[in-house]
Order: sequence, then structure tokens, then C-alpha cells
Amino acid sequence: MAWRTIIGQERVKRILARAIAERRIAHAYCFWGNEGIGKDALALEFAAVMNCEQPHVDSEGITERCGVCWSCIQASHLRHPNIQLVFSLPAARLSGNTDSDSSSVPSPIAKLSDEQIHIIQEQLRLKAVNPYHNITIPNAVQIRIASIREIKKQISMSAPQHGRRVVIISEADAMNQEAANAFLKTLEEPSANVTIILTTSRRDHILSTILSRCQQIRCDVLSDEDISTALVERQGVPKEEARLIARLADGSYSKACELLGEDLQQLRTEIVRLLRVMLAPRFILRLTHELEELTGKATGERDRVRIERMLILLLTWMRDAYTLSVSGGHQDMIINIDQLGDLRRFVQRFGVHGNLDAAARAIEQAIERLRRNANIILTLITLALDLRRILYAQQV
Ligand SMILES: [Zn+2]
Repeated sequence: MAWRTIIGQERVKRILARAIAERRIAHAYCFWGNEGIGKDALALEFAAVMNCEQPHVDSEGITERCGVCWSCIQASHLRHPNIQLVFSLPAARLSGNTDSDSSSVPSPIAKLSDEQIHIIQEQLRLKAVNPYHNITIPNAVQIRIASIREIKKQISMSAPQHGRRVVIISEADAMNQEAANAFLKTLEEPSANVTIILTTSRRDHILSTILSRCQQIRCDVLSDEDISTALVERQGVPKEEARLIARLADGSYSKACELLGEDLQQLRTEIVRLLRVMLAPRFILRLTHELEELTGKATGERDRVRIERMLILLLTWMRDAYTLSVSGGHQDMIINIDQLGDLRRFVQRFGVHGNLDAAARAIEQAIERLRRNANIILTLITLALDLRRILYAQQV
């Protein structure tokens, strides 16, 4: 049961499980690594395991939580009194007590509007259902000193009768300077039976004096396989679609979940159509026209993300064509299985000696160029020229 909420991260799980088994739990951790790979999920699970009332140790020596005790149930609803999740909140409305008034400790949410509190509750509900959910609250860009004071208050309370008090500061790089300085003082006076876990995808934005007081644990990017399996099991996504999304998700399960709402089939249809234009006679005029249509509503960054996604989809498609050309097609290796007919026709026409492999590499290079901020239209025209050179080369 324990750790089952976590996708991948076997190495990190073992480090944490060993700390529990050997009773060497640090006072402070920093879980760092790319966005959406499960740093919060790991922190929440770690906290839940430490608080389970009936934990047991499996055959590999990993401590598991039972999943059914009062503590496990509270933890899974993010309602456990020992486990506190801290994240960015909107600024309080101006009135009397300001951020710098330290005479009392107002709750960080005391001055938020009912609507804001409602949004926060809804975000927490989503986080409880899916610990990979990114908490997003309008105008919440900073972790403020009121949140750090709340942490101090929690820590100063008497030790829990059972388990361990755990404070998780999600995206801790969002602490403003005042909060970070106050937090540093908290770290300098560790309390018994309390663990603080910072999570961050921007470790270089955290004070080095804070980092040096934490045990730093790097979390890994997820494999495509881990992501697609999780999409199938958790979100009920059909296997083929899950593999397509995993390719686009850059090792981030949160990003994969965001992509669920996107019409990838439509994007793929558009890019495969564009490929046909690229390979047609007198392509330059038509291609330029198509590209102007495609990027016409030039919205900058969004355009770039969209074209990049389309190219990644084209890359999966071209790799499928390559797989078909060399293996005759073990169908379970084909990602765009619903396109099998089109793929076969493409391979018949162009699948001569390694050309498709070179074509896939040309698409990879185009994606690289886009990521390095190259001009979108120029990148696609260069790609068209490369693909024509590669795919027509041996047909002359
Ligand atoms: Zn339990």
C-alpha cells in the first residue's frame, strides 16, 4: 500500500524507506528536481508512512503504511493534524495587521475573501485526489511570512502522541525574502519529532544557508513507460493515447495530466497533413501559405509550445514508420497504431535504407532549434528541405 501513490522514483523511495527503517529521519529535507515528477507526492507519502498506526515492513525492508488506519485516511485527505502543507497564497487584503506585524500570529488565510478560501479548498481537494496536481491559486506567487509564523506555531506545539509532525513547503523557492529569513531561524532550532520538507523545481532560487541545513534529495525525471502506465491505471486513458501523451510530457506526470485536455489527435492530423505539403511538388509556396495560417494568430510563446508539440507528434509518427520499415511492424511497438494504414503507405513510398531514421533525426533537430528560440517559420522550412533531401535522395 505504502508508496503506491508514487510513480517511479525507486531510488528516492529506498533512501526514504531506509531512513525510516534505521530511525535516522532528518530534521529537514529538500526534494528537488524537474516540475511534475512527484516531489510533493513523495513528501506527502513519506509523511503518511511516518504517521501510520500499523505500518509493516515488506520483504525488501521497505516500511509500508496500512492505508486503512485513522491516520492513513486523514493523511490521504490532506487532513492529518500532524501533516501541514504550505504553499503560495494571495496577499491578504490591506487592513490593520500587515505582514510585518509580529505581535500576534494571524492565520495566513485569515484575511482572504470567502471566494479565495473556496478556491484554496477546491485546490486541496484536487491535490488529495491526485498528489501530482499543481496547486494553482490566482495571484498566489509568494510564500509569505504569515505562513512561516504558522509553521513556527505548529512546531512549538507539544510533540504528537503518535507519529511525527511533518511540515511540507511546496515550491519553497516561492518564499519571499522576509519569509526565507524567518524560516532560516526556524531551521536553526530543530525540534524533536519534527521534519520539514522543502520541495522545489528551482533549487538555485533558495538561500544556500537554508539548503545547507537540509538533506538534499534529487528526484528523477519519470520514464515514458512510468508515465503511460500511470495514465492508463489512474486516469483510464487508452494505452495508445497514453503512450503518445507520455512522449510529450517531458518526464513530468503533471504535464501529462495537463495534456489530457488537449486535442492531440487534431494536432497530429495537422502536422501529418503539413508533412504531405512538405513532400509535395512546388512545396515552398504552399508550405509558406500553410505556415502563415498555422502561426497566423501569432501569440508568441503559446504558438511555439503548440508547434513543438506538433513536431514531437510528428517525431513519434516518423519513428513508427521507421519501426515498421525495419521490423515489418511489431504492432505493440507502434505508438500511432490508429494510423497504421497511412504509416504503411508512407513506408512503401519512402522507406528505403535508413532514410526514415535520418528523417526522425531531422525532426529532432527542428525541435531542438525551436527550443533554442529559433524562428518558427524558418525552422519548419529548413525541416521541409531536410526531409525532402533525406526522403527523396535514393529515389532518383
Ligand atoms: Zn495506516
